[in-house]
Amino acid sequence: MKYTLEDKMTSLRAVSLAVLLYILGYALKISVLLIDILTPVISNMLIRSVAAGFTGVALSTGLLIVSVNDHSKYTPYIIAVMDAFMLLLVFDILNSSSLNDTVTLSFISFFMAFIGYQLISVFVAKYQRIKTEKEQGLSELLQAYSEKEQVFSELQQQINELKQNTCEYCEREFTSKNALNAHKGRCSNNPKNI
Ligand SMILES: [Zn+2]
Repeated sequence: MKYTLEDKMTSLRAVSLAVLLYILGYALKISVLLIDILTPVISNMLIRSVAAGFTGVALSTGLLIVSVNDHSKYTPYIIAVMDAFMLLLVFDILNSSSLNDTVTLSFISFFMAFIGYQLISVFVAKYQRIKTEKEQGLSELLQAYSEKEQVFSELQQQINELKQNTCEYCEREFTSKNALNAHKGRCSNNPKNI
């Protein structure tokens, strides 16, 4: 089977890749924010960056796991709003010099959070759909297998019945056990009759 570009673009893998990039971006955002916050607490730049980086990765991985597994109605919205606020903090919106900057940064923040939210929704929906399709395919296969097994056992039963009414010496078939027994007595291939 040859996959077209369209297949690849709409595949679960493409969505997964986008989600991973989003999560990576999310981790970087949290790290940048944490580096700022940790500056007065941890003076060593390397340790500060490592601490911020690990926390960023841990939090964003947690975000992904919660988004994918939590079926609560409000969680995605809360995460999207928090994401938007985090971006506002990363962009240092409280210290922005002009209204123009504030509006632009707010728009970018909410837009990015919205896209992230949509991305994770698409990912979850697509994953669920593919999982359901696979399960359905498997159950159809099992059904077909059990039907074939039924046919096979019926055939085997017919073979057994035929065998029961077949003369073991000349292999002629008879309609009943009695007819077979009568024949056996005079079958020319029966060693007893020779
Ligand atoms: Zn015979």
